[in-house]
Amino acid sequence: MAQETIFSKIIRREIPADILYQDDLVTAFRDINPRAPIHILIVPNVLIPTVNDVEPQHELALGRLFTVARKLAADAGIAEDGYRLIMNCNQHGGQEVYHIHMHLVGGRVLGTMVA
Ligand code: 5GP
Repeated sequence: MAQETIFSKIIRREIPADILYQDDLVTAFRDINPRAPIHILIVPNVLIPTVNDVEPQHELALGRLFTVARKLAADAGIAEDGYRLIMNCNQHGGQEVYHIHMHLVGGRVLGTMVA
């Protein structure tokens, strides 16, 4: 059984977060330490620790990450200028929270890898 992280508590609204979107499959909230004017995390409600743990039954939730990213980018007014979607995996990928998540980063020119 995978260890829960702080993201499970945010999804269950047990601790505060600036939640921008939530449905039966995913939750999106602002990163507590934004590296750009727009920095949103989009996470599946189910706990999947890393990309290495992804299974076919997760495809619906993981596909939803993209449709929600698209919506939130449009809502934030950054769709046309562009943005970056990032998923970090394990230590070399710079993953800090072991509940898979997509970073939506934008609002400025992203010269190097950000998030
Ligand atoms: P990772 O390095 O795992 O890809 O990214 C984890 C992200 O989660 C980091 O950008 C970090 O700032 C963010 N983060 C960590 N703890 C919290 C928290 O309690 N609340 C929010 N909103 N973001 C968090």
